[in-house]
Amino acid sequence: MKIKVTTSNDEIRGLVSNAKEKGQIVGLVPTMGALHQGHLSLVQEANKKADFTVASIFVNPTQFDDNSDLENYPRSLDADIHMLEEVNCNAVYVPSSDEVYKDSKPFEFDFNGLNKPMEGEYRAGHFQGVVQVVKRLFEIINPDLACFGLKDFQQYAIIKEMVNQLNIPIDVIGCETIREENGLALSSRNQLLAQEDLQSALLISKALRLIQQNYRKHSPAELKALAVEPLQKEINLEYLEIADSDRLQPIESWSEAKHARAFIAAKVGEVRLIDNMEIF
Ligand code: AMP
Repeated sequence: MKIKVTTSNDEIRGLVSNAKEKGQIVGLVPTMGALHQGHLSLVQEANKKADFTVASIFVNPTQFDDNSDLENYPRSLDADIHMLEEVNCNAVYVPSSDEVYKDSKPFEFDFNGLNKPMEGEYRAGHFQGVVQVVKRLFEIINPDLACFGLKDFQQYAIIKEMVNQLNIPIDVIGCETIREENGLALSSRNQLLAQEDLQSALLISKALRLIQQNYRKHSPAELKALAVEPLQKEINLEYLEIADSDRLQPIESWSEAKHARAFIAAKVGEVRLIDNMEIF
């Protein structure tokens, strides 16, 4: 079936109401476009539980703390729509900023500390922008479920927290990170990498893998030191953190956490990349 493409709140609401009237489950996959297999895997996950899947493509200005980052963010709408159709996405909502924020006010949200470490420390106001836009998308589209990538684990944890705090009746599903065979996590930003920086970008997933595979032999601090060393020579590391997967607080010993993950953000050339892996 041909995918429906709309820029209008009323039209996407109409399509969703129609689906719901037929008793269909509605799934949402929010994206910023420049789609790759990682995004498509979210649509495929949504399709497993939903009868009608909506993807949104919106490069949300309020979550960018750096104007040139916003301007340089890759955009490829026609190819995106084609890819979404290929994976049986039913509708794509491609609004303007005015349309998304029409008749809405910013809301106050207690992040419960989840916005403090890592991305929160390095991208001022980023998560404030993320929760505003995701709440708006939830209000406009009103899905039964929404899929988010664990690649952006801190974002996923914050969306879960928002949905719990505000009692929003949407099932938030976290989906595994899709990687190249060489380990590089797929990202829209990878296409901005210079050819000579590709090898350096691989160091990120290698460092995470090193931590994941050696955690029984070393303390978190020892592993951080081991993993940081090869990175610092080649890329501009912003943080390498080993943290509790629930509270996202850094841990000193493994016994502090029921589940732990390792997180990295780094600039490779001019391109900022993030990645993380589950340790246990
Ligand atoms: P973005 O367009 O970068 O805002 O990402 C939209 C959604 O796709 C977010 O939920 C991301 O976490 C998810 N995503 C991005 N890259 C990947 C990946 N490599 N594997 C799985 N999900 C991803």
